[in-house]
Amino acid sequence: MSTECNRNGYKIILDKKGADRYIKISYPQRYGRYSEVESADAVYQFNCNGEILFAKGKGRQWPDPQEWLKRSVGNDWIYYSTGGYTGVFEAIGEFYLPNLQYPTNALIGGKPFAADHVRRIINGWHEKVLEIRDGLAGAAPDITNFIDRVALNSPANLAEKARRFFQINGGRVTVLPPDSRHVDYNIIPLTIAAGCLYKCRFCKVKTSKPFEEVERTEIDRRLEELAEFYGENVKNYNSLFLGEHDALCCNPDLVIYSVARAYERLGFAGSYMRGANVFLFGSVGSFLAAEEQLFDELRRMPCEFYINIGLESADQETLDVLGKPVSATMVEEAFRRMQNINDRYSNIEVSANFLMDATLPKNHYPSFLRLVRDSLPRRKPKGTIYLSPLKFDAPSRDLVFDFNRLKLQSRLPTFLYIIQRL
Ligand code: SF4
Repeated sequence: MSTECNRNGYKIILDKKGADRYIKISYPQRYGRYSEVESADAVYQFNCNGEILFAKGKGRQWPDPQEWLKRSVGNDWIYYSTGGYTGVFEAIGEFYLPNLQYPTNALIGGKPFAADHVRRIINGWHEKVLEIRDGLAGAAPDITNFIDRVALNSPANLAEKARRFFQINGGRVTVLPPDSRHVDYNIIPLTIAAGCLYKCRFCKVKTSKPFEEVERTEIDRRLEELAEFYGENVKNYNSLFLGEHDALCCNPDLVIYSVARAYERLGFAGSYMRGANVFLFGSVGSFLAAEEQLFDELRRMPCEFYINIGLESADQETLDVLGKPVSATMVEEAFRRMQNINDRYSNIEVSANFLMDATLPKNHYPSFLRLVRDSLPRRKPKGTIYLSPLKFDAPSRDLVFDFNRLKLQSRLPTFLYIIQRL
C-alpha cells in the first residue's frame, strides 16, 4: 500500500502503481512503480532510486495538462507534446511526440525547451524538493527517507551518474532502435559489439570504431554493473537493447548468451512490467547471413524480439550517393527475407529503415514503392517501415507531404523515425 503525506500545500505519495503493460493510449500513462510529489504549481515523479523521472506544471502556468517532461537515464530531458499537429499518431505510431534537446531528424514538433514554463521546471525542481524537505520535520520516516534520497539526486549528481552509466558499455548509446518506442524507450542497453560494418557516408550516428564483438567475460561484467547501476529501479524494466549498431552481426551463440544472461541478471521475469522485449539493429549483410537456426532459438526464448535493419534505399544510384556499400539486389533480398521471418515467427518482428530527402535520385521513391506496395499482395500488420529524414534539424512541410503520400501507398505499417539517444 502506498504511503501519503499532506503538508504545507504539497502532497507526497510513495510507491504509486502505474500500468504493468505498455499500451498506446491517448492520455498520459505512467508505468511500473514510482513516487510523486505534488505542489501547488507542479507534479514531480521519481523512480525507485529517488531520481526524477517525470515533471509537469499545473494550472495556467502549464499550457497543456496532457504534456509532460521525462528525464532519460542518460540525463536528457524530453518534452512529450500532443504535437500541435493532428496526425501525430499517424506520423510516429504514438500519441505523444518526443521533442529532444539535441539535433535530430524530426520533421514535426516545436521548440518547447525555449518556453519559460518548461525551463522553470527543469531548472527549479530540485530547489523545490529542498524547500519541501525543510518543511517535513516530524513526518513518517519513509517519507523523510524518500525526500532525503531525492534531495541527494541533485542535477549535478544525476549528470555524474549518467557519465558513469555511459562508461559501463564503453560509450553513450547514440541511437536507439525505432521499435523501442513500443516501451517508451525504457530499455537497458547492453553493448555486445562495438561499431558497424559499413561506415556509410550519410550516417550521423556511426562511430569510428571497427566492428568488434565483446568477450563473454566483459558482457558478464557489464551486466553486473548495469544491475548495480539500475539498483532498485531495475524492477521497472523488462526490455533490453543489444547494442551497438549491428548486434545481429555477432556470433549467434553470443546473441543467445547475452539475452539469456541479461534476462536472468536483470530479473526480467520478476519485473513490475509484464513480458520481456529485446531490441537490436542489424545490417543488410548480417541479416542475409543470419542462419535460420538463430531465429529458431530466439523463438524459444521468453521475449519479443524487434530487429531493425537499415535498408535505406532499393535504388542503386541512391545507395551510391549515400555511400552505403551494399547493392540494391541485396536490399531487395533482405526485404523479402524480412517478410518471410515476420510471417513465420510470432515473437520476432523485423522492421526496416528507409531514407527520405528531396535531393535523393528520382528512382529512390519509385523503388521504395515497388517493395512496400507492389511486392506485397495485401496490407500486413507486421514489419514496420520507418522513414528517416536524411538531414538533421531541417523540419520541412514538403517532406511531411512526401511521407504522407508514401505511407498511404505502403502495405506495411509506415512511420517516421525520430532518432533518439540514451
Ligand atoms: S547506417 Fe548503420 S551501417 Fe551505416 S554507418 Fe550508420 S550505423 Fe553504420
